[in-house]
Amino acid sequence: MTDCIFCKIISKEIPSEILYENDKVLSVLDINPIHFGHALILPKQHCRDFLDLPDETYHSILQAAKVVTHALVESLKLEGYNLFSNNGTIAGQSVFHFHLHVTPRYRNDNIRFVLNLKRYSDGEMKEYGTTIRKFIKP
Ligand code: 5GP
Ligand code: ZN
Repeated sequence: MTDCIFCKIISKEIPSEILYENDKVLSVLDINPIHFGHALILPKQHCRDFLDLPDETYHSILQAAKVVTHALVESLKLEGYNLFSNNGTIAGQSVFHFHLHVTPRYRNDNIRFVLNLKRYSDGEMKEYGTTIRKFIKP
């Protein structure tokens, strides 16, 4: 994709701080990190979001995430980290080339999603389960 910033990073048209690369995946430091060391895992093939990924890429992405996460934990002596992915504008995605974030976490770093957790009423959890299961297509 010509106008995709991550495709340009992958093709080395745009410089980046590369942490890891193989034939399917590139991992770079995020330019605006939540914490220093915040990494991105990018499939080399342009895919808009999680559901757009070809089946054979899921394993490579998670494998690369494991390699990079290990390196973050060991180099920065992390006690914890988050892996996450924003998919769709309303979910906070700003670059429409799928990516996984891996970010260090620290005690008392005061980073949290503001959550308003819901409770299922009687039978409602079962209803949701039944509705969703109808669309499970392994
Ligand atoms: P999203 O908001 O789509 O979940 O995440 C996109 C991420 O890409 C952001 O955290 C943002 O800081 C990062 N980002 C955007 N442009 C660049 C860039 O040119 N280089 C790097 N390394 N990261 C970028
Ligand atoms: Zn792209």
